[in-house]
Amino acid sequence: MRIVESIADCRAAVAEARLSGRRIGFVPTMGALHEGHLSLLNVARAGSDYIVASVFVNPLQFAPGEDFERYPRDLAGDARLLVSRGTELLFAPATAEMYPGDADVTVKAGRLAADWEGRIRPGHFDGVLTVVAKLFNIVQSDVSVFGQKDLQQAQLIRSMVRDLDFATKIVVAPTVRDDDGLALSSRNRYLRESERVPALALPRALRAIGVSFEGGERDIALLEQAGHGILLQTPGIRIDYLAVVELDTFRRPARLERAGAAIGAIRVGNTRLIDNVLLGNADF
Ligand code: AMP
Repeated sequence: MRIVESIADCRAAVAEARLSGRRIGFVPTMGALHEGHLSLLNVARAGSDYIVASVFVNPLQFAPGEDFERYPRDLAGDARLLVSRGTELLFAPATAEMYPGDADVTVKAGRLAADWEGRIRPGHFDGVLTVVAKLFNIVQSDVSVFGQKDLQQAQLIRSMVRDLDFATKIVVAPTVRDDDGLALSSRNRYLRESERVPALALPRALRAIGVSFEGGERDIALLEQAGHGILLQTPGIRIDYLAVVELDTFRRPARLERAGAAIGAIRVGNTRLIDNVLLGNADF
């Protein structure tokens, strides 16, 4: 695996691969890699034969007071994992490489970002879309893979690619979970042993909504009640939101008449967890 830190070297390496007829797959990450990230590499591999991963903790998507400074960083460990999965190129730029002091133009997320993560973390999705747009322009991949774990983010990236005519194809890969059901996340490293059980209330609540949906319930307030009951019975957590939304709009009508998702975010101690399950959308 080659490791490059400059935009110019990344472009040159990808151009060389493309010249030799390879199809480029891209997996952007913020590092502290786990099996969730690695599953995205496998999905990328299925449709391409030159895999580029990026590791960049993007300051633009963290608000003041969030965990940018303490976000876990382990580039050597990440590189070892990427090598073990046969990644061809790792792009690991410094902040100054991505954002030289004179940067002035950013991408602004639209209506899809109005609620949920977008409301609780103002400016977060503008930061995400800006860095992803830059990475797409640098890597120019044929296929780019994102995780369903960050569902609102994945939908926003799809809409950016559609609305701004990026050439890359977006694939969204299923959420990888630990055996106990907790969605893998770099932030799970912050969880103390005693916080794990309360954290599991989130996937349990989402599953309960899924069960209610499978049973035929379409009234959104009633679907949400099935999950709220579980969260409200769990001491030691704070609920940011738990909701049922339409998958394509992230809006919350009275009834779910098309493909949807149960989405949730809670805090356990100093750790913020988000998760979701899809409702009635096999072809997502
Ligand atoms: P991050 O490093 O948190 O920015 O995540 C990089 C990519 O990995 C994003 O597309 C995430 O949605 C995806 N991802 C994170 N956790 C998981 C997981 N447990 N399963 C699948 N994909 C994930």
